[in-house]
Amino acid sequence: MCGIVGYVGPEKAAPILLQGLKRLEYRGYDSAGLALLNGSGVQVVKRPGKLTSLEKAVSDVRPSGNCGIAHTRWATHGAPNEPNAHPHTSGQGDIALVHNGIIENASDIRTQLSAIGYAFISETDTEAIVHLIDRLWVEGEPLEDAVAAALRRLEGTYGIAVISSRDPGKIVIARNGSPLLIGAGKNGQTLASSDAAAVITITKDVVYLDDGDYAVLDTNGYRINNFHGAQVNRSVHAVTWDIEVIEKGGYEHFMLKEISEQPSSLRNVMRGRLLEEEGDSRLGGIADHQPDLRRVRRVVITACGTSWHAALLGEYMIEELARIPVEVEYASEFRYRNPVLEEGTLVLAISQSGETADTLAALREAKHRGISTMGVVNVVGSTIARETDYGIYLHAGPEIGVASTKTFTSQLVALALITLNMGRRRHLSVVQGGAIVRALQELPVQVEEVLKLDAQIRALAEAYAEARNFLYLGRGFQFPVALEGALKLKEVSYIHAEGYPAAEMKHGPIALIDQDMPVVVLAPRDVVYQKIVSSIEEVRARHGRIIAVVTDEALELEGKVDHIIRVPQTIPLLQPVLTTVPLQLLAYHMAVVRGTDVDQPRNLAKSVTVE
Ligand code: GLU
Repeated sequence: MCGIVGYVGPEKAAPILLQGLKRLEYRGYDSAGLALLNGSGVQVVKRPGKLTSLEKAVSDVRPSGNCGIAHTRWATHGAPNEPNAHPHTSGQGDIALVHNGIIENASDIRTQLSAIGYAFISETDTEAIVHLIDRLWVEGEPLEDAVAAALRRLEGTYGIAVISSRDPGKIVIARNGSPLLIGAGKNGQTLASSDAAAVITITKDVVYLDDGDYAVLDTNGYRINNFHGAQVNRSVHAVTWDIEVIEKGGYEHFMLKEISEQPSSLRNVMRGRLLEEEGDSRLGGIADHQPDLRRVRRVVITACGTSWHAALLGEYMIEELARIPVEVEYASEFRYRNPVLEEGTLVLAISQSGETADTLAALREAKHRGISTMGVVNVVGSTIARETDYGIYLHAGPEIGVASTKTFTSQLVALALITLNMGRRRHLSVVQGGAIVRALQELPVQVEEVLKLDAQIRALAEAYAEARNFLYLGRGFQFPVALEGALKLKEVSYIHAEGYPAAEMKHGPIALIDQDMPVVVLAPRDVVYQKIVSSIEEVRARHGRIIAVVTDEALELEGKVDHIIRVPQTIPLLQPVLTTVPLQLLAYHMAVVRGTDVDQPRNLAKSVTVE
C-alpha cells in the first residue's frame, strides 16, 4: 500500500518520478503527489484521484529540479482528498515527506506539537512526522540527523522519504515495517522506491533496507545507518526480470495478461523442482533444512486474502498426503490471538508480495517464540522472504493487477511441491509421488486448454452482468476454489458473492436462491461428485440459475444446469488450478462488461503493507 519513489541525479526528476509512480500505482490510487527541490525551495504538486490527474497537473505546472520524492496513496487516515495527499510539508514549506504505513502515536505527537504552535492542515498520521522533523532539527545539522531524531520517537510502521531545501541535494529515507529499497544507479543517479518495478528502467542494482535503517541518497550514491547513527552494510541484489514483464504487452488489462500467463508461470514454479523417478520435489530453499522439517509434527499456515485460500488448499494437500495436522489462520487474527505454538510446529507464511503487514507480524510472533518458519513468496528479496528460516519462491514474475490470479495458481503448485517433499519423507510412496509429479507436468498444457474457453465465458459474463449476487459452491478441494471465485468476483466487478461448502448451502444460503441468483457449482468428477449433483438438484428446485464447472461429459447434469464449463481432469489435489482459471476469467469479463476499473478496483491495493 502506498508507493514511494525518490530520485536524485543529473536528470530532471519529475518525469522519472511520474514513471516510477506509474509502476507503483497498483499499490494505491487514492491520490498522488510529488515534491522537488527546485533551487529556491520545495515545490509540491499533488492531486486527489488517479495518477493521470497528477500527470496533467505536472504538465501544467512544470515543476523543475533534479532531486525529488513522489507518492501514490492508499488512505488509512483521512479521506482521499488533496490536503491529505502526500507529500506533506512543514509549516515553512521547506521540508517535504512521503510515507507508507501507520504512525500509531501520531495523535500524541499532534497534540504536543499543536500545543506549541504547529498548525496541521491534513487529517493524516503522516503530517505528524514532518512537523516532528522540523521541531527536532538543530540549526546547522544535516537533515538526516533531524530525521533520525524523529524516528526514535515514532511508533508504528513506516517507509518514508524526505527532502528539504534547508539541506538540498539529498533524499533521506527510512524504514520500519514498510518496504523500501535503494536503486543504485550509475552516473550519479540514486533512487528510492517501495518496489523494484519503479527503478528498473534506470538500474537493476537494488539494496533493500532492513527495519531500523535510514539512508542518505545523493549524486555520490548512498550510505545506510541504523536509527542510532551507526553505519551498516546491506548487500546489492540484481533484479533478474525485465521491464516488459511489467508492461501490458498488448493486453487490455494486467489482470487478463496475468490470467493468460499462467501456463508459463506454472512452468516457472516447477522448473528444476520435479524428480519424476523419485516421485519427489527438489526445493533448493528448504533442502538444507530437512532435519528440521523431519521433526515437524504440526503446520500452521498463515496468510491473508487470496493467499489464505491457497493456504486452505495447502491444509487439504498436506493433511491428505503428508499426513501432518495443519491449521490455517488469518494472519490478522493469529498475531493478536496468542495461538498455541509448541515444539514441532512449523509456521508457513504465504504472501505474494512478501510484505503483507499482518502476515509479517504473524511470522515475527512465531519467530519470537522460537518456532521454525517457512515462506511461500513471489517477490524475491521481500521482507517475508528474508525473515523466514527457509522457503520457496513462486517465480511468477511481477503481478500488477490488484486481484491476484497467476500467483494464486503458482501458490497451489508450490504447496503441492512442499506436500510432495514432506510427504515423501513420511507416508507417501514413490508410486503416489510419481503420479503427482506427472500430473504437475501436464498442468501447464491443461491450463492452455482452459484459456481457450475465454469466448464462452465472456458470453456468460454478458448474460449475467446484471446479477446482484452470486453463489459459489464446492466440496473438498473445490471449497476453497468456491471462496476464491467469489472473492475474485467481488474484487473486480463489485457484485456481492459468497463461496460456500456445497453441503452447507442448506443450512442458510439456500434461503437466498431464486430465479435471480446465479450459482456457480464446482463439479469435477471426484469422490464427492454425486453429492454435488444433489446440491445442484436442490438449487434447481428453487429455480436458481446454475453454471457448472465439470471435467467430463457430465451427462447426469444434462437438462439440470443452465451452463456447463468443461475443463480438463487432473488429480484432486491439482484440480483446483484448473477450476480456478475459468472463475478468474468470469470475474474479469464481468468487470469489463460492467465497466469497472479491472486493474485498480475501488478501495483496494495490491500489497497490503498496513494493518
Ligand atoms: N497513513 C498514511 C495515510 O493515510 C499512509 C497510508 C499508507 O501507507 O497506505 O496517508
